[in-house]
Amino acid sequence: MKTIHVSTGRSYDILIGHGIIERAGELIRPLTKAIRAAVVSDTNVAPIYAQGVISSLEKSGFDTSLFVFEAGEASKRLSTVEKIYSHLFDNNLTRTDIIVALGGGVTGDMAGFAAATYLRGIDFVQIPTSLLAQVDSSVGGKTAVDLPTGKNLVGAFWQPRLVIIDPDTLTTLPEKFFRDGLGEVVKYGCIRSLPLFERLERENARDIIDDVISECVSIKRDVVEHDERDTGERAILNFGHTLGHALEKLHGYEGLTHGEAVAAGAAILTRISESHGITEPGTAQRLEALLEKYGLPTGSELPLADIISATRGDKKSTGKGINFVFLDKLGSCFIRKIESADMPEFFGV
Ligand code: MG
Repeated sequence: MKTIHVSTGRSYDILIGHGIIERAGELIRPLTKAIRAAVVSDTNVAPIYAQGVISSLEKSGFDTSLFVFEAGEASKRLSTVEKIYSHLFDNNLTRTDIIVALGGGVTGDMAGFAAATYLRGIDFVQIPTSLLAQVDSSVGGKTAVDLPTGKNLVGAFWQPRLVIIDPDTLTTLPEKFFRDGLGEVVKYGCIRSLPLFERLERENARDIIDDVISECVSIKRDVVEHDERDTGERAILNFGHTLGHALEKLHGYEGLTHGEAVAAGAAILTRISESHGITEPGTAQRLEALLEKYGLPTGSELPLADIISATRGDKKSTGKGINFVFLDKLGSCFIRKIESADMPEFFGV
């Protein structure tokens, strides 16, 4: 088992190891005086993993309950959080008890938000079971739900007490959702690690998945430690995301996964930045080749003008422009604001 320590306002460990999901109880027990644990999971993950996690928690002395919601982004809203609160209240969870988020990004974001707000905040543990959640959303303490007008618009910074990553859970993850996570994995290589990018080129990600997960988690840890509250450096994690979010919005959050949208956004942006001479020549082509190798999109059939106009209202827009993350070369990036007035010329639309 590998341990990666995160030193944020409240520090915690990320554990990576095969089969450790079955040991959740003994791994959590030393960290808390909780009497009760509430496992929050969805209709896809609960039937496969909830029983094992619950028995492990019970064995370690936690009085454990289970809350299951309908799988999918559509559930990630305040009305579901309200049902979680009711479950916590009905099962007598107090301020010293604990929530265990068992599932993908939707589960972690929403159970984390419930933990951040129930009784003004109780402890929670992340057990991410999708690649996207393991390499990205379970680390960093961002919790949120969606509003009808947009994704992740209501949330809180709330660090978990522990993150338990068991790569064995990826064997039950549908291929489309494995690709979803790979979109973020490629992003980490692009912004911070040429060696990771090159390993993904040379080898098959599935064969080296333990290393891939720990490399991505380490990069995210480093960035988050420097900027827990997302006021500066953390923005580099948004490479590919501004155009990606626009694509997700234009697709009505269906058909295109988050990771696929990020992949397409990264490729489109890098072709443009390379044409302006701010990215090393050949970068876009190498990025496209890697994305294609893993079945990820490198562009969109939608007109670029529509994608650009859909970036308006992005959470990362400040004042009259948008901060974009550009690569100067593979493994290295910088943030530059493009003024609204300059957008049409910059993107050639
Ligand atoms: Mg993302």
